[in-house]
Amino acid sequence: MNECVFCKIANKEIKSYKVYQGKEFIVFMDIFPPTFDDKITMPTVIIATRKHYGSNVFEDSPEKIFLKAMKLTRRVARAMQLALKPERVCLMTEGMEINHFHIKLYAVYKDFYQGYLSSIKGPENKTTQADKKWLKQTAKKIRIALKEIKKAEKQKK
Ligand SMILES: [Zn+2]
Repeated sequence: MNECVFCKIANKEIKSYKVYQGKEFIVFMDIFPPTFDDKITMPTVIIATRKHYGSNVFEDSPEKIFLKAMKLTRRVARAMQLALKPERVCLMTEGMEINHFHIKLYAVYKDFYQGYLSSIKGPENKTTQADKKWLKQTAKKIRIALKEIKKAEKQKK
């Protein structure tokens, strides 16, 4: 039995707030984005492979998959920039908790930049899950921007 959470998300056994679905990749909202004082400071999007590879992305995946993931990541980052208007979108590939190939994109705003990324809130040490309505709406915004970018890319050719 496969207990990998991201495999379950890819197989639709666990609900996710999708931004993009393709043959090889699935892009969805991180339900535990960084927070400060109960507010989401950095909306976070996850780009994951449908197939299971280890989370040390530089070592655990075929180059072809990595390069494809990077190309998709760039496109999603540009959609986040367009949809969410952060100072900039930042990329991270750590995967220390979930051992499944994934890349994280953070929409980072100047006012909330804490110099670290965490969903732990204050002294109680509780994690803060994002509001479902907010996740749904934000995923939708990025989906729309993603379509616009794809269209613009097609027109360039
Ligand atoms: Zn997996």
